Amino acid sequence: MPNPKRRHSPPRRGKRRSHHALDLPAFSLCPNCGNPKMPHRACPHCGWYRGRQVIEAEE
Ligand SMILES: [Zn+2]
Repeated sequence: MPNPKRRHSPPRRGKRRSHHALDLPAFSLCPNCGNPKMPHRACPHCGWYRGRQVIEAEE
């Protein structure tokens, strides 16, 4: 079985893990109602996209 010859050092392990951080999902504020919404999606709160109502508003 192939096995590592020796253990990697802590700095080397840290350099590998420096790429592992997650970032927050992108969002923007709806220009119609001001609620957070996903970019390039109709607002889930008021149903607006590009300045007009495109889907039924929730509730
Ligand atoms: Zn909205």
